[in-house]
Amino acid sequence: MDLAIGIDLGGTNLRLALVDPEGRISSRRQVKTTSFASTSDLIAGIAREAQMLIQEAESAGARVLGAGIGVPGGVDPAGEIVYFLTNFPSGRDFPMRRLLEEKVQRRIRLGNDANIWAYGEGWIGAGRDRKNFVLITLGTGVGGGIIINGRIYVGHSGIAGEIGHITIEPEGSPCACGGRGCLETIAAAKGFIRLAQELLDQGKSSLLSQSEEFQPLSALNVFRAAQNGDQVALLVLDRVGRALGIGISALINILNPEIIILGGGVAAARELFNPPMVEEIKLRAFSRKGKETPVVPPLLGEDAGILGAARLILQVDD
Ligand SMILES: [Zn+2]
Repeated sequence: MDLAIGIDLGGTNLRLALVDPEGRISSRRQVKTTSFASTSDLIAGIAREAQMLIQEAESAGARVLGAGIGVPGGVDPAGEIVYFLTNFPSGRDFPMRRLLEEKVQRRIRLGNDANIWAYGEGWIGAGRDRKNFVLITLGTGVGGGIIINGRIYVGHSGIAGEIGHITIEPEGSPCACGGRGCLETIAAAKGFIRLAQELLDQGKSSLLSQSEEFQPLSALNVFRAAQNGDQVALLVLDRVGRALGIGISALINILNPEIIILGGGVAAARELFNPPMVEEIKLRAFSRKGKETPVVPPLLGEDAGILGAARLILQVDD
């Protein structure tokens, strides 16, 4: 049987797996991303882990066609050069695809992680049989992937889908990108913490400052406090929902997608921020058709990256 290796390079873990043409995962490996001190260490580590999977597959009589990899950073439109790599300051403008191909001795395809998660969901997840959709991931940051006519849309220089950097509040909080008031400053985990801290600093009474059960201040504790009816936490979730609704409306108005897939750890609080989010979409999305755009959860969980990366090898569509 022909297999591919799907590789998901996350901020915490490097995860690899063998994937068959039906999207079934047969074997996995995982290493802490922080165990790599430099990009050359990282390349060597990925190659070593991939080789282990290749040996395992071949000893079972299978053939490994190549490996796809999603990276947390910017990738050029050809999937050759990594512009920058989150957590690896030295990882600038380096030919990651070629370096990996030389070491692994198999075909390598490379892309931005959120784009590849979207590609995975489009294969056997929430975007299956849908040609045009957008995936938004809410976690430590806000990422996005755009699928147009069944393919990842990377844009002119590869940076399309940076949904986290849509401006929501022109005079808002500074963002890591150099801008202000980006969606990511509100709807990512650090946004929850910042918004809650601002309200606490104004002297508002809250479980978040008064009960040890809700310490330390984290996105999870804000959710928990909101579930307990805490007014500060509920205000935070209202702002998150509104910010998402504004950002999603912009995407609907530009792209007219069939669905929006909203995932990532922070999306677990969806029920708490859904009403203001939907209210903003109903207000701002264009026409009855735009307002009807469904916002749905992903189906593949944390395997979306591995599956999307393997799909780059197993289903070559260009
Ligand atoms: Zn930004």
